[in-house]
Amino acid sequence: MERTKSRKPHAMMIPYPLQGHVIPFVHLAIKLASHGFTITFVNTESIHHHISTAHNGDAGDIFSTSRTSGQLDIRYVTVTDGFPLSFDRSLNHDQFFEGILHVFPAHVDDLIAKLSRRNDDPPVTCLIADTFYVWSSMICEKHNLVNVSFWTEPALVLNLYYHMDLLISNGHFKSLDNREDVIDYVPGVKAIDPKDLMSYLQASERDVDTNTVVYRILSKAFKDVKKADFVLCNTVQELEPDSLSALQGKQPVYAIGPVFSTQSIVPTSLWAESDCTEWLKGRPTGSVLYVSFGSYAHVGKKEIVEIAHGLLLSRLSFIWVLRPDIVGSDVPDFLPAGFMDRIKGQGLVVQWCCQMEVISNQAIGGFLTHCGWNSILESVWCGLPLLCYPLLTDQFTNRKLVVDDWRIGINLCERQMDTTRDEVSVNVRKLMNGETSSELRSNVEKVKCHLKDAITTVGSSETNFNSFLGLVRDKIATKLCNVNGIEIS
Ligand code: UDP
Repeated sequence: MERTKSRKPHAMMIPYPLQGHVIPFVHLAIKLASHGFTITFVNTESIHHHISTAHNGDAGDIFSTSRTSGQLDIRYVTVTDGFPLSFDRSLNHDQFFEGILHVFPAHVDDLIAKLSRRNDDPPVTCLIADTFYVWSSMICEKHNLVNVSFWTEPALVLNLYYHMDLLISNGHFKSLDNREDVIDYVPGVKAIDPKDLMSYLQASERDVDTNTVVYRILSKAFKDVKKADFVLCNTVQELEPDSLSALQGKQPVYAIGPVFSTQSIVPTSLWAESDCTEWLKGRPTGSVLYVSFGSYAHVGKKEIVEIAHGLLLSRLSFIWVLRPDIVGSDVPDFLPAGFMDRIKGQGLVVQWCCQMEVISNQAIGGFLTHCGWNSILESVWCGLPLLCYPLLTDQFTNRKLVVDDWRIGINLCERQMDTTRDEVSVNVRKLMNGETSSELRSNVEKVKCHLKDAITTVGSSETNFNSFLGLVRDKIATKLCNVNGIEIS
């Protein structure tokens, strides 16, 4: 007999196992659940272990509070990434990514099969996976799921990866000697200097082995995204209209950003958060520089030492987030001798904090950042100009958006490898006070307006999100009807 039940759409969400991906996924999960979706949120056991350790124990079901207080149907499961918890993923980067490429998908497949055997109610009908995963289309085809790819970075970066083949055929990437002239043939990108490409795409065959695991992931992931039914981007239409239009010409792409919340009740931090409120209390408005290089990048000891001296020399107040593994998980001591004594009164060093809470404090007046995309969005949201020190591949392209396109930030130094304390001190002062600072602040206000407008009820991101909701519901309903006559409520 044909089953006809009224069922909610049920999406499984799988972020990449990195801090900067887990956070926007959690906020998207809450948003979808508050629009009537059932969500099964999947973290790796390792990410869950980090969140638990940061919370001094077992964090348990990280969504339990949002389920009770917001009555949201978010279920939480963990899955192994294939490595034991004790394995140092940061130190053994390539081995870890081989696992994410080859072993992790088998566990995801197994998990979905288990959930469907359990006869989950409502059944999982949709997968929302990070665009960096290479296996989404394979899993969706096998389990008959609607395929949604969530891109947590700017559309420009997606657009450039999307057109990797063009860069190769034009000789800007993967040639023996890559061209060094401006790239003007990528749809939606007027002109970009090769040095502003993601550093992975700056590699030439002569200098770099482009068969390493990272390149295999990039090449597969950005082929696979082309098979997605929908792509969601954590950006704003008005901020990146050209890249978005180019992508939207190819497949359904929705700019739904900024996807974050100023008050999250879901624990997501991978390190224990220090409370900076007391230290900030009574400090003049806009007087404190916030410094953070995000969750993943490493910085050389020499550079850390120069930045440390530069901050001291600037005489400005600062909060510096320094993860214990910032230089490497096997390098515990990296600050100049006596630094902690010399900054008393001037600066506060913490391992981790609730960034959004800290930078929303009126005392914070600028952000020295590695140009992680979440940090850029959060900084703009709080009206802070940026001092850019890109460290990882995509951040070089994010820097271009901040410094060259939107003019809301300046560079920390001319050449990354030769950061000097004087340069740091001069640029920190330039960011915080004076003519350049005022110009940057007035530009930040304009970009901030775009972010804030986008998520009002008539704003572009909200409108895009609602269109996406309508279409994805239809697509899920069609799939279900084809299979067993279930109707979506
Ligand atoms: N973050 C935080 N506390 C910190 C430093 C960072 O909560 O002390 C959060 C920050 O708010 C952001 C994320 O971690 O949401 C970092 O993401 P981003 O894209 O900026 O950089 P990534 O870590 O991916 O390099």
